[in-house]
Amino acid sequence: MKEYGQHKTKAEHEAEKWGAHLVDKEGDYICSVCKKVWIPTVDDVNRKRPSTYYKLCSACRLKSYICRRMYKKDKGNNYDALYDTSN
Ligand SMILES: [Zn+2]
Repeated sequence: MKEYGQHKTKAEHEAEKWGAHLVDKEGDYICSVCKKVWIPTVDDVNRKRPSTYYKLCSACRLKSYICRRMYKKDKGNNYDALYDTSN
């Protein structure tokens, strides 16, 4: 059984999860997939969480985007109709 006080607060949890990706932190940003140091730009600010950058470098994000897209195609979702950029 857990002792009282062992639980992490929400803030601690958030810091652990996002601390390494905060926009104005000191030190290097390391991609969580390829583990390489990368330099985020304005375009890499997390749109859902504007105080942080994405955890993945732009190359890994593109790769995962393509994988998701292929997965959805495999599953028969009408992805191209939903995200049609041709017009
Ligand atoms: Zn990467």
